[in-house]
Amino acid sequence: MIDLARQLRLHLESLKAAGVAFVPAVAPVAFAVPEPVAVAETPEADSTDSPDPEPPPNPDSPETRRHELCVLADRVAGCDRCPALFSTRTQTVFGVGPVDPDLCFVGEAPGADEDATGEPFVGRAGQLLNKIIVAMGFQRGDVYICNTIKCRPPNNRTPTPDERTNCREYFDAQLALVRPKHLVCLGATAAQNVLNSTLGIGKLRGRVHQYRGIPVVCTFHPAALLRNEGWKKDTWEDMKLMLRTMGRPIPGAKA
Ligand code: URA
Repeated sequence: MIDLARQLRLHLESLKAAGVAFVPAVAPVAFAVPEPVAVAETPEADSTDSPDPEPPPNPDSPETRRHELCVLADRVAGCDRCPALFSTRTQTVFGVGPVDPDLCFVGEAPGADEDATGEPFVGRAGQLLNKIIVAMGFQRGDVYICNTIKCRPPNNRTPTPDERTNCREYFDAQLALVRPKHLVCLGATAAQNVLNSTLGIGKLRGRVHQYRGIPVVCTFHPAALLRNEGWKKDTWEDMKLMLRTMGRPIPGAKA
């Protein structure tokens, strides 16, 4: 109150210094002092120095799923379900690429180059796969690449039914986290594993299948294309089918 009176006096003095000779008298204005409002005590209203609690992580977010993929890859790296595979592998080969990709390529199992580096499709077949990816209008980094089997079978033999079953859980969990919008299966073994089919690649290619609601196109394995140049044309037909399924333009096609 004393401070208010002092401020009023100073104000009046400054008016006087500025040449104001009198201040008109006005009827006092009634003003109501609001009653203090009772505020319920909530944890948020706590004024202690502790930081706001972290919101719980969203299990659906890309960050959470990327983290879960690392956890899964660690589990796979320690897997000893298949004696013939874990005793001969250099390392497991989990997969590379972004989560939520438009497209995912699935191969059979790592070969020697992949076993040595830990990355799928880096050998000669991988070089050819890269060309297919670019011909479709993507970069390798745009797509997710993995195999149905995460260890190299000795001498690149076909994985046994037990080995396929043992790795199936990892593949399903991986795809549930990556959530690709479309799948391309490379070769009969990958296609049969993904689709739970016994049909050969000749019967599986050329149409659109489904894996857990995801459209799937099957085609020849790039390693088979290295041996049979003539199958490249059929493979490009399969990739065009995939591009049409995705609603994307076909590079090189007349508009
Ligand atoms: N063949 C496959 O099926 N996968 C690879 O990663 C490499 C070769």
